[in-house]
Amino acid sequence: MLELIVATTALYLLGILPALLLSGKDEASQGDREITITAIDALLPQTQCGDCGYPGCLPYAQAIVDRNVPLNLCPPGGDATVRKLENLLGKPYRHTTPPAPENLLAVIDEETCIGCIKCIDACPVDAIVGSAKQLHAVIPEYCTGCKLCLPPCPVDCITMIPHKTHITF
Ligand code: SF4
Ligand code: SF4
Ligand code: SF4
Repeated sequence: MLELIVATTALYLLGILPALLLSGKDEASQGDREITITAIDALLPQTQCGDCGYPGCLPYAQAIVDRNVPLNLCPPGGDATVRKLENLLGKPYRHTTPPAPENLLAVIDEETCIGCIKCIDACPVDAIVGSAKQLHAVIPEYCTGCKLCLPPCPVDCITMIPHKTHITF
């Protein structure tokens, strides 16, 4: 027992023990950082479009954790993603609708739509309603103008039009 006390005291005096304790703490906080970044990244749309000002969803998640940047910089994610991020991070909802850079609204040509539901799967904010083999339509208040529904549509029946109002709810 005496040997253990002597060895511990020696390590402490030499500064080795504090360094070891500190590095364990650093590793723990680094682990927390990684977990938080992963959780934030999982809530982002993963389109890697860069509209948030970062080169992808993961870099934006890292900026949120490391630099406390605003949570409303992801237009494709829309208001729903802001809410999810605020819930995850325990922040109060601040009614901050993400900017819609081009201020566009998706419109579906009902004559051409074949009801394949591919656009529904692509929309990150559930702005498209309709079911298989049925007409599909866009809820203007929810559409963030991200254009993510355009590429999957096999009959090119979705167009983007100017849109002035994005409702904050
Ligand atoms: S704007 Fe949103 S979807 Fe696009 S890269 Fe940034 S976090 Fe990802
Ligand atoms: S542009 Fe298309 S994918 Fe984007 S929010 Fe509007 S309906 Fe959804
Ligand atoms: S992807 Fe195009 S065709 Fe398919 S449901 Fe959506 S709008 Fe209609």
